[in-house]
Amino acid sequence: MLTVSDLDLFYGDAQALDGVSIAVAEGTTTAIVGANGAGKTSLIRTISGILKPARGTIRFRGKDIAGLPSHVVCDLGIGQVAEGRQIFPTLSIRENLEMGAVIPRARAGAKDTFERVLTLFPRLQERLEQAAGTLSGGEQQMLAIGRCLMGKPDLIMFDEPSLGLSPTMVQELFRTIRALAAEGMTIILVEQNVAASLKLAQRAYVLENGRVVLAGTGEELLADPAVKQAYLGL
Ligand code: ATP
Repeated sequence: MLTVSDLDLFYGDAQALDGVSIAVAEGTTTAIVGANGAGKTSLIRTISGILKPARGTIRFRGKDIAGLPSHVVCDLGIGQVAEGRQIFPTLSIRENLEMGAVIPRARAGAKDTFERVLTLFPRLQERLEQAAGTLSGGEQQMLAIGRCLMGKPDLIMFDEPSLGLSPTMVQELFRTIRALAAEGMTIILVEQNVAASLKLAQRAYVLENGRVVLAGTGEELLADPAVKQAYLGL
């Protein structure tokens, strides 16, 4: 569904991605693992069109999307739940969700999508007219996911969705991600909870200094001695 080949990305003179290649099959979950500064966020933001690569291709359903503007990428069916949530705090929950449906692909059937999102997150339903900034961190993360789903993505990329959440909320977040995966959603997951993300993932990549240094099934990486030592604290 998505094939990233030989991607290079620079911030000025500093190279953040160096020949990165990954492949994501439809209906699967792919985990991207790496230390701080490895390039995970840069990779996600390049796929979503926020950053322009210096070299390489990004094929989504056969079309090269590298360098296309982010609203176009979004309208092709790639949604992103960005690090730090980025909801609109003064708007209500309903308004935040409606903002997710402004892209053309989302307009038809937006009411049904809205109902589906509220079924997935009953806590949002109870608070529809409340300002989003008054939600707890975990609820804001649900809202960010709900808003992304309102855009009817076929592929969702999550960047550190559990950051700053309580252990209970982290569990709930992983339940939600598992439920989306079970429905057949294609997912790219960047997560500090490396063990939990590898357990979910059919395929996983380890990034170091902007390069893919290891790739395999989630199970293979969970069992890999270097991964165990560097990311699982074993
Ligand atoms: P983290 O887990 O800490 O978010 P990451 O794996 O997502 O790390 P990136 O945020 O992609 O890593 O950063 C990769 C490299 O690019 C780092 O060296 C970082 O300092 C650098 N970088 C990221 N954003 C910028 C920017 N806007 N300008 C300059 N350098 C940047």
